[in-house]
Amino acid sequence: MPFRALGLDANILKAITEAGYTEPTPIQAAAIPLILGGQDLIGIAQTGTGKTAAFTLPILCKLAGLIGAGQKRGIRVLVLAPTRELVVQIEENVRAYGRHLPLRMATVFGGVGERPQIQALQSGVDIVVATPGRLLDLMGRRFGNFSGLQFLVLDEADRMLDMGFLPDIRRIVQAMPVKRQTMLFSASLSREIEQVTREFQHTPKVVQIGRRANPAETVTQLVYEVPKHLKTDLLVHLLQGPQLNMVLVFVRMKHSADRLAVSLERKGIKTATIHSNRSQNQRLSALKDFKSGRVRVLVATDIAARGIDVDGISHVVNFDFPMHSEDYVHRIGRTGRAHAVGDAISFITSADYGALRMLERFIGRGIVRKRAEGFDYKMAAAPGTHESEHRNRPPQKGSSQPQSSEKSRHGAGQVGHRFKARWQR
Ligand code: AMP
Repeated sequence: MPFRALGLDANILKAITEAGYTEPTPIQAAAIPLILGGQDLIGIAQTGTGKTAAFTLPILCKLAGLIGAGQKRGIRVLVLAPTRELVVQIEENVRAYGRHLPLRMATVFGGVGERPQIQALQSGVDIVVATPGRLLDLMGRRFGNFSGLQFLVLDEADRMLDMGFLPDIRRIVQAMPVKRQTMLFSASLSREIEQVTREFQHTPKVVQIGRRANPAETVTQLVYEVPKHLKTDLLVHLLQGPQLNMVLVFVRMKHSADRLAVSLERKGIKTATIHSNRSQNQRLSALKDFKSGRVRVLVATDIAARGIDVDGISHVVNFDFPMHSEDYVHRIGRTGRAHAVGDAISFITSADYGALRMLERFIGRGIVRKRAEGFDYKMAAAPGTHESEHRNRPPQKGSSQPQSSEKSRHGAGQVGHRFKARWQR
């Protein structure tokens, strides 16, 4: 089905062509006509499915119509998203798709000075994209007039609930006009999400793409079993191959992100990090370097990586296996985006067996186990003497970093010997 069959404005169709899109993704084909028709909508779709354009395109189209009809200017659209990165990416999408329309927008998020955001809100904008915390703060001080709001979007609503934003969102939504169109996007339809939709939406239509929590079909998934103290060496080994050219690596904790980046840099692999201890500017510049190819590896924690929208990621590496199956699905959704083919590689240690089994049940299929060719697993024989062992030492007393269950149960040395025994058999 071509985009032009969906009833979008000519200026938007032009921008879509310039973005290089030839046909709508399934979520776009299903959601765009409903939103154009004035429906409240629940979109069950993961990142990578084209969900941002699924709500942005029809909203921009309706907004252009209102402005064309001479309606008074003011904030008409509010998009709430869980993280600053996601806000920035939605902004980039809105700017790209709305480039031939005379629209103005503001972004609002914490971690940076509020002055420019206040000025933007007061300068007369049509669209506001915001994280709930900072927006509520500014609204509480009477910045931003939302009395003419017509479109409200809750993007990655499941994640906003996980992050404890529900009370803030409730207060924000209560301040919005009752007569409005509300769109909610979530990776899954949980009981909490259903409760939220009952509260904020009016007879919404549900559009669900793919099975629940089904990782993008184009992603090839592999598991490498490796003793914890050899993870860094295995990653370096894999990065020595030619295929891993744009790699997003997930770790559980911000300290590990920094440590891993230092180790990779030492091996001559250009690496950037993105986690919550880094300033907004540092995060944006890390993303920019990654997008431009200046760095080959981006090491991220789950929360900081929310909404990372980078075309061409060749591989996602779960350096630390995710705690929750939902996180796995979110992580691997960063590769194989739209129609590109990507690989998701997970390192597992003996401590992750249970989580892996749960994940396989969750996604409804087994994941292929692989051994890295040419990698010296025998280094496991003397884990205590290996360089990476020192890098992965348990946190010092007083550190906020929780102990990993593996260390506390076995100690890294014992794990090394277990693996040695298994693989030398
Ligand atoms: P999202 O799910 O919104 O994070 O989008 C995932 C990626 O797909 C983004 O990089 C978009 O630029 C891209 N994209 C969105 N719609 C299309 C489309 N119709 N054709 C090709 N790529 C698309």
